[in-house]
Amino acid sequence: NRMLLNGKHILIMGVANKRSIAWAIAQALHREGAKLAFTFQGERLERSVRELVDEHMPGSLLVSCDVTKDEEIDQVFATLEEKIGVLHGVVHSLAFAKTEELEGEFINTSRDGYLLAQDISAYSLVAVAKRARKLMTEGGSIVTMTYLGGERVVENYNVMGIAKAALDMNVRYLAKDLGADNVRINAISAGPIRTLAAKGVKDFNKILKTMEEKAPLRRTTDQAEVGDTAMFLMSHLSRGITGEVIHVDSGYHILGY
Ligand code: NAD
Repeated sequence: NRMLLNGKHILIMGVANKRSIAWAIAQALHREGAKLAFTFQGERLERSVRELVDEHMPGSLLVSCDVTKDEEIDQVFATLEEKIGVLHGVVHSLAFAKTEELEGEFINTSRDGYLLAQDISAYSLVAVAKRARKLMTEGGSIVTMTYLGGERVVENYNVMGIAKAALDMNVRYLAKDLGADNVRINAISAGPIRTLAAKGVKDFNKILKTMEEKAPLRRTTDQAEVGDTAMFLMSHLSRGITGEVIHVDSGYHILGY
């Protein structure tokens, strides 16, 4: 069998709808033979996620998980342990900040808004990695999603940029801890993609237009490109890579102008 992920059990966190980056990743992993499980954020999103999964990957496990709640994360991994036993991969593709803090001056960020963005967008990776490690008894791979706004100042990205900077550093510290168990962890820094989460960022269209004009590949990033890179990071082809941030952004991040 030539499929790269045959027999691998991978948890996907962060599908909201068919535009979600997590959904494109799920499709790429499914194509290579992975068996997938999904979490969705509460009842509000259950129906849309269930419809997608039932249509394209029937039989996949679906569990509710709000990552601000330790009990819900515990429940996800307890369910996985019971139903599948060994886990080989986790895709962490979720983030949140208050819309009013994704515009204007960063200096106006509230304490609440700052902590909420850190909790959901950065700490959650640590909480998930700790629990995933216990089920990754055959080694594993964890992939999270980041953005250039955590390395450079990007207009309106504000508090989410601070959360992504923390997330990137979480990847490096976690890589050091997890490496001894042959568990790898990496981030994909995607170029701007029109999704539900992106709607929260003011003037998002302007960012897309700049990409088309200036990025070396002269085009915006699409979900499928990110999906294929995540597939590579889940597969043995990337076995020497951990603690890395791979940019899938038409090369935009190399520019100094
Ligand atoms: P999306 O809206 O489809 O996905 C965001 C997901 O986060 C949703 O499924 C939502 O339910 C989940 N989420 C939010 N709060 C949560 C909570 N408390 N508990 C559990 N889940 C929660 O948007 P997306 O663009 O696919 O975002 C996925 C990831 O990609 C995010 O980390 C985002 O920052 C990152 N990213 C997006 C872009 C872009 O331009 N769209 C670029 C780079 C990185």
